[in-house]
Amino acid sequence: MTVLKDRFERTIDYMRISVTDRCNLRCIYCMPVGGLPPIEHKEILRYEEIAQIISTAARVGVKKIRITGGEPLVRRNIPHLVKLIREIGCIRDVSLTTNGILLERYADALAEAGLNRINVSLDSLRPDRYREITRGGDLKAVFRGLQAAEKAGLNPVKINMVPIRGVNDDEISDFSRMTLGSPYQVRFIEFMPFGLRETWATEKFIPSEEIRSVAEKIGTLRPVVMKKAGPARYFKYGGAAGVLGFISPLSNHFCGECNRLRLTADGKLRPCLFSETEIDIRSALRSGASDAEIERLIRLSIEVKPEGHNMQIGNTKIRSFREQTRQMSKIGG
Ligand code: SF4
Repeated sequence: MTVLKDRFERTIDYMRISVTDRCNLRCIYCMPVGGLPPIEHKEILRYEEIAQIISTAARVGVKKIRITGGEPLVRRNIPHLVKLIREIGCIRDVSLTTNGILLERYADALAEAGLNRINVSLDSLRPDRYREITRGGDLKAVFRGLQAAEKAGLNPVKINMVPIRGVNDDEISDFSRMTLGSPYQVRFIEFMPFGLRETWATEKFIPSEEIRSVAEKIGTLRPVVMKKAGPARYFKYGGAAGVLGFISPLSNHFCGECNRLRLTADGKLRPCLFSETEIDIRSALRSGASDAEIERLIRLSIEVKPEGHNMQIGNTKIRSFREQTRQMSKIGG
């Protein structure tokens, strides 16, 4: 089996694929009120092109795929893409990150197409606040989506929450309590200094350690070893149905174990979330490049993958906001 290592001896076996920059929400830390100028339709990779790239990536060692956006479920017939990816040998795991609004509609079709698991981004359990943060989102729709995903056998269902001081940090306990009775994996992800400049402030950042100390007020948390933990550290309350995860990209950054590449909706390979380096794979594909050439570009993106994000924060000292030429909705979270 092919194993691909980068310059820093990291095995690269995971590709995150953004299938669209469109979103049906307008989260305050992600998009301006009026949205962002969309990528032109003709620039967006077709499903067959995505499958061709994954097929080549699989030959050089990629085994796991995550479909992201924008909001991936706003793109037509995502189950068809899942099916195409599933047909590629060597791909062992296909997952999807969604805001959950359309999940009720698509959960069964996604599961039937072979999707293994789902992550739902959810930053508030209070209908009014949720509507405010997402500029109009309906929390009930997300809950119906979570139930539909569970019923469809998408396992595990992970809920990703980003605690932001002064915005939703008073809900850490409520999110933690969700794991007492439901088999969800609730994961707290540290707020990161990119997205919209005006919403970032160092004071809004809450380190994982602090989030965990709030969760520990509910009960003792015992470490749990999970099979596919990725960068998260997992814990569980005694007798709980679900688990709590903590992802610390800043306070305990995991670049040393990073195994991922990103493919943007318009066909650029990005070796690192925090790097501006992009390799244009779409132009090569559309000008009839051979599989060998596509493979060369994938290998090149691994060769130029940086060691990490260099946002050394020591004891929670964070460098300033990271200006990106692309917004997150155009890179894929
Ligand atoms: S910052 Fe770059 S190297 Fe570090 S974990 Fe994220 S993608 Fe990987």
